[in-house]
Amino acid sequence: MRAVRMTAPGVLEQVEVPTPTPGPGEVLVRVGAVGACHSDLHILDAAPGVFPTPLTLGHEIAGTVDAVGDGVTGWSGGDRAAVYGIIGCGTCRGCLHGRENQCRTVPVGGVGLSRDGGLAEYVTVPASRLLPVGDLELTQAAPLTDAGLTPYHAIELARPALRPGTTCVVIGIGGLGHMAVQILAATTAVRIIAVDSDVAALDLATRVGAHHVVPAGPDTVDRIRELVGPAPDGADVVVDCVGVDATLATARGVVATGGRLLLVGLGGGTLPVRPVADEPPTVPFETSVEVPFWGTRAELQEVIALGRAGLLTADVQTFPLEHAPEAYRLLRAGEIHGRAVIVP
Ligand code: NAD
Ligand code: ZN
Ligand code: ZN
Repeated sequence: MRAVRMTAPGVLEQVEVPTPTPGPGEVLVRVGAVGACHSDLHILDAAPGVFPTPLTLGHEIAGTVDAVGDGVTGWSGGDRAAVYGIIGCGTCRGCLHGRENQCRTVPVGGVGLSRDGGLAEYVTVPASRLLPVGDLELTQAAPLTDAGLTPYHAIELARPALRPGTTCVVIGIGGLGHMAVQILAATTAVRIIAVDSDVAALDLATRVGAHHVVPAGPDTVDRIRELVGPAPDGADVVVDCVGVDATLATARGVVATGGRLLLVGLGGGTLPVRPVADEPPTVPFETSVEVPFWGTRAELQEVIALGRAGLLTADVQTFPLEHAPEAYRLLRAGEIHGRAVIVP
């Protein structure tokens, strides 16, 4: 079969590989759609040895069941499913509580992270990773598994703070951010302020439900402050889907006293947190900072329900498998809007 693999650190290419056979408890999935996540670029850029090579990338997968391994019940050929990408150890404290996104195994197991992913015609996954998607388009189901699930989980962490009449700032309206805006619009009555450096991303934010858009630049904090008022007032929740120094500075510059910072983007920036009494604080008193990771299987089921109800729709640009390297080149160049989805 055809697969797009990281054959060496930083090298992505299409190769021919044997079609895998499902082991005991596993399912062979015919990949219908796989999202191109910005994290795949971080994987390609990671130091040698952090991720195995060769590795078929792609951790945002939806498809149809092709064959089942020994002992698999409840799934049969033709069933349509989304893949929950994390494969927790199953025995640590996080996994035992159903929070595999808090698995204490390093590195955490995952489809397209520790074993071959979905940028291929077929992928094998443990049957327990599959969730039914009904008649949802597979190009819609795939982005739900990460671009949808990750901001959903982050927003769930901040759920108590998202009261009607409060304000949430979403920074970075790409694959994750444009889903974050919709999740907020569908599940809360908060005022949504979207921030991005790209004009097309801001247009997308407006189309999917943002109430205000602010271009990222030197005066971003001032522009947001005009909307949320001066400190110690401010944004009740900030979801940073970029995570570079500039966006983290915006996040802490606009968050209210007692607010919440959700650092979703893995851009490598630093947020200074210095508890101090007699200076302008680095973050206001009572602020909480969370670093969410992906989400739980139960949350993915809820995200799929939002998708099936028509409340969460990825803005999708599709590419055939042989154009996957081009899709990632465009993603790196900031030329993908919404989510690039590869259809093998
Ligand atoms: P993306 O490339 O689709 O979107 C990024 C968006 O941020 C783009 O719209 C871009 O214009 C905007 N942007 C870039 N720099 C900016 C800046 N300085 N100011 C304002 N906007 C800026 O990426 P994505 O797939 O949505 O992923 C976003 C980040 O989230 C990545 O770092 C990714 O690795 C990370 N991620 C984290 C998790 C997690 O579990 N924490 C899961 C998935 C992805
Ligand atoms: Zn991802
Ligand atoms: Zn675990």
